[in-house]
Amino acid sequence: MSHFSRPASKLTSLEILRQIGISVLAICIAVVARKYPLSQLEGRIVWVTFYPAVMMSAVLGGWIAGAVAVAGSCFVAIHCWSFFVSTPFIHGSADWLGVWAFVFNCALMIGTAHLMHRERANAWIAKEQAEAANQTKSQFLANMSHEIRTPMNAILGFSQLLQRMTDLPESAKSKLGIIQKNGEHLLGIVDEVLEMSRIESGKLENHESVVDLHGLLQDLHIMFQTGCKEKGLAFNLDIDDTVPRFIEIDLGKLRQLLMNLVSNAIKYTTKGSVELHATYSLSGNLSIRVQDSGIGISIQDQASLFQPFQRTKQGQQTAGGTGLGLAISRSFANVMGGRIHLESVQGKGSRFTLELHPKLSQSSSIAKARSVGTLRIDASVENRRILVVEDIELNRQLMSEILQPIGFEVQMADNGKIALRMLESQSPPAVILMDFFMPEMGGMETTKRIRERYSAAELPIIGVSASAFHEERNRFMDAGLNAFLAKPFLEKDLIELLTQFVKFAETEIPSEKFLPTLERAPVAWKNALRIAIDQGNISHLKALAGQVEEFDQKLSTWILEQCLSFQLARLKQLAETIPKDPS
Ligand code: ADP
Repeated sequence: MSHFSRPASKLTSLEILRQIGISVLAICIAVVARKYPLSQLEGRIVWVTFYPAVMMSAVLGGWIAGAVAVAGSCFVAIHCWSFFVSTPFIHGSADWLGVWAFVFNCALMIGTAHLMHRERANAWIAKEQAEAANQTKSQFLANMSHEIRTPMNAILGFSQLLQRMTDLPESAKSKLGIIQKNGEHLLGIVDEVLEMSRIESGKLENHESVVDLHGLLQDLHIMFQTGCKEKGLAFNLDIDDTVPRFIEIDLGKLRQLLMNLVSNAIKYTTKGSVELHATYSLSGNLSIRVQDSGIGISIQDQASLFQPFQRTKQGQQTAGGTGLGLAISRSFANVMGGRIHLESVQGKGSRFTLELHPKLSQSSSIAKARSVGTLRIDASVENRRILVVEDIELNRQLMSEILQPIGFEVQMADNGKIALRMLESQSPPAVILMDFFMPEMGGMETTKRIRERYSAAELPIIGVSASAFHEERNRFMDAGLNAFLAKPFLEKDLIELLTQFVKFAETEIPSEKFLPTLERAPVAWKNALRIAIDQGNISHLKALAGQVEEFDQKLSTWILEQCLSFQLARLKQLAETIPKDPS
């Protein structure tokens, strides 16, 4: 309501006019009501109808409207009364007392209404200020996240590239692994804080797509297997036969939610086991349970743990954390139309259950994963030029180190203006990789300008940005992008995207590259791998891929990729290259 939107001290002439208008209207209504149904009543009963008129004016208009209504009522009663009824209103001093009593009562009424107005106006201002502060905070966090993500892109990207160098000593590789792990951890914290601010500003959206639920749970199982083993915990995955394989859900949110629950279960458990169990009921209810035999949570703490920054005392003593994971998980569950509930006994363990009602998908529209490790630009491709528009030198270098080995001829531009100049003086490249924030001319403006000349089909542009906000991404997409890649990205994500625009071919399996690992891998692992390949046992193969991760991440990823795309023939080729051990 507009009259609550401004504090009483800042009355404009328009507001005063509005208030007077309201009071005049109220008096008219009172007079009309007085003249017709009550016209036979005694004159002094007049106040019966004028009180509501004053009240209405004061509440709807404000104190000026109230005061005008009092003055108007008195004027009508004293001077114009004979116009309505034959008897005059003022007979004697008792009637004057009535007038003063009316004025006094109305003053009290107007004062109360005025206080009420002021309180509401102040509350409204406080709300506005809080919203503005929240907006500033969100913007600050978005900027900070961008500032942190951009250098992290270089740190994580180069450590990934360095880890692939075969001539690097093992000690250096393990140190790189530590840089990588900690970098990812730091990025996780940035993401959590940012996610929380997005939740608080009500900007959470549900982006559904077809998801391979079994694949997702198996991937999580593999992903956390090593962590469990390090702590001496058993980690069991149990997917009931009734659980559908393909569902429509927000993959990012479901994955992050389950990762939060499983990583908590491992973090707060020192002995025993962690279980990931999925069931599906006839009513369409999907339950995913994460159960542990850890420290447990007391009944008192259970109520508050889903609030941001809440941690139990025992939790704080056991491990580090931000206290945001569960709050984010609950919001994600709500956005996906589900809920999370917790059962726990202190000292015995906890069970978090996610309940969802996802739509089922009959056929999988998930693109078959390809082994990006073996992808190269097809020999038949003539235009191999790729233009990287990026202001940060390290990121340009990183792009170049990823793109050159797969057959691209890489061109660089420091900002949008330079890119436009380059496009004027040469034929268009096969693809452009476009950063968002750049000096001189940013990615959005540059993309719009390029689209005036080349359509999306003629010249694909992939936006690359560390901005974590969906709205910013959407605006960038609307400027004419063909696709968007968030920084920091994985090498495989970039290559997967490029395969949509440039023809790629798969090279033979890089057996010579994996040979050193296959030679030194434990005999038991090699035998188990041979058997799993022979039997086509995908879940066992995935587990074996998880085990080899610490020796050779490339081989682990390659095996996983073959499993995901059911490339058993290629796995058989690998099995043939496994050196026979003398035993
Ligand atoms: P974080 O783990 O980063 O502190 P969370 O929001 O994920 O933040 O968890 C909040 C708190 O809930 C934790 O600090 C811990 O005290 C408690 N908690 C969460 N999961 C478990 C669990 N599986 N077992 C025991 N305590 C847990």
